[in-house]
Amino acid sequence: MFYSYQFSEELQQEWDWPERYPAQADLAAYANHVADRFELWPDIQFETRVERAIWDDETCLWTVETGDGATLSARFCIMATGCLSAVNYPEIDGLEDFAGETYHTAHWPEAGVDFVGKRVAVIGTGSSGVQSIPVIADHAAHMHVFQRTANYVMPAQNRPMAPDEVAEIKANYPALRAKAKQSFSGNYFPVAGPSALAVSEEERNREYEARWAMGGLAIMATYADFQTSEAANETASEFIRNKIRAIVDDPEVAELLAPKQLFLCKRLCVGTDYYDTYNRDNVTLVDISEVGIDRITPKGVAVDGDEFEVDILVLATGFDAVTGALKRIDIRGTDALRLQDKWADGPKSYLGLGIAGFPNLFTVTGPGSPSVLTNMIPSIEQHVEWISDCIEHMCARHLSRIEADADAEAAWVAHVNDIGDQTLRATCQSWYFGSNIPGKPRVILPYAGGFPAYTKKCDAVAADGYSGFVLR
Ligand code: NAP
Repeated sequence: MFYSYQFSEELQQEWDWPERYPAQADLAAYANHVADRFELWPDIQFETRVERAIWDDETCLWTVETGDGATLSARFCIMATGCLSAVNYPEIDGLEDFAGETYHTAHWPEAGVDFVGKRVAVIGTGSSGVQSIPVIADHAAHMHVFQRTANYVMPAQNRPMAPDEVAEIKANYPALRAKAKQSFSGNYFPVAGPSALAVSEEERNREYEARWAMGGLAIMATYADFQTSEAANETASEFIRNKIRAIVDDPEVAELLAPKQLFLCKRLCVGTDYYDTYNRDNVTLVDISEVGIDRITPKGVAVDGDEFEVDILVLATGFDAVTGALKRIDIRGTDALRLQDKWADGPKSYLGLGIAGFPNLFTVTGPGSPSVLTNMIPSIEQHVEWISDCIEHMCARHLSRIEADADAEAAWVAHVNDIGDQTLRATCQSWYFGSNIPGKPRVILPYAGGFPAYTKKCDAVAADGYSGFVLR
């Protein structure tokens, strides 16, 4: 009920979510309902890829070229291209030679995939792998899971929404939303205390147990020092590792599934029956942490001299996060500056909203904004409101051009990197730092200073007549 829009109280009140973690069809129904209710359909052009966006300094217009060869011009270009939308097809030798069926979790066929009686390989154990592995295992004849890095998986504890719970949230929606906005991640999770080390082991474990029973992401907010104290972080890391050891029957498999990196360094996963799945006879975990995958053969997956023959290959290999979708468009700003070139050593953006050299172009949840470290929908709404206000401000004053100032941008980028380097997130390889994409510069992509500090800064910039931007 919180991973949803809040811009309309009527929408919040009228919509009923069937489950705590609704399935894809329910999410699609919600998106369709929003489009119906606010009559958005006439403003949306589907099945259209934007190939190029070119700025003209004389006319102060963007020319946008689409895949079908059409062009259109616009005063403002708002890139709402998503943080996790540019699919990462892994560079594994022989992938194109595989004779069976290949699917990427981010491009799943609408008609579904029939796994019954099939031998299946899943590559990847991030959120998408974690959530699809137990479901596929229910149908497949046999499944091999190829794991490069083990992740921490909290149980979703998914269940239907209880009517009294729904009524209570709906009666207090605005207050609960306001509370969430004051929390670091834009989610309202109760914090048990400032430090995991300030309480006894018994008390700590009681808290962790309660959050395991609660399910979902609430454990990440238990103590405020998970990102600053390795020892504090280790208490939660070990709690989850012990859960894995208790669930998984084979101690060797349990040890392979127990993550080595700190909890919350990579993104916390939420799953249903994930660890239990490894107790099934038809599931085999293949550790590729040291050796990687040699190649994909026409018949299957080759690892360390062994060939695992399969009928279906599932790539749960994620995304070129945060910057990928933007860099896949040929965006050219002043003096024909290409965004790909400007960002060759990592993204540079002022507040994740505007980019020096790219006037009148805004990014929704762009790099350097809290985005993926927060509840995405409130973060998206905050950006949409900020951008709308900014455009209104410009129209009211007959201004035709806004551009991030290069110095303000440099200062913000330095601040984003400083904060990112101070957190324990910097201690492992993750997509937050671009480490999942070969050749991508290692730079923190989201702003790790928290939602309240960030929104305060954005509000102050706007109140100050858009300081750090040049308007004319
Ligand atoms: P991901 O977290 O990036 O996981 C990709 C997996 O593929 C990782 O285990 C990675 O291993 C592995 N991998 C990538 N390239 C590989 C290669 N060449 N060889 C072997 N293994 C390889 O991607 P994701 O699971 O799609 O999730 C991405 C994000 O989407 C999540 O973090 C989350 O933000 C979002 N998401 C959310 C939900 C949800 O519950 N709301 C569900 C799905 C996705 P390494 O870790 O070693 O790189």
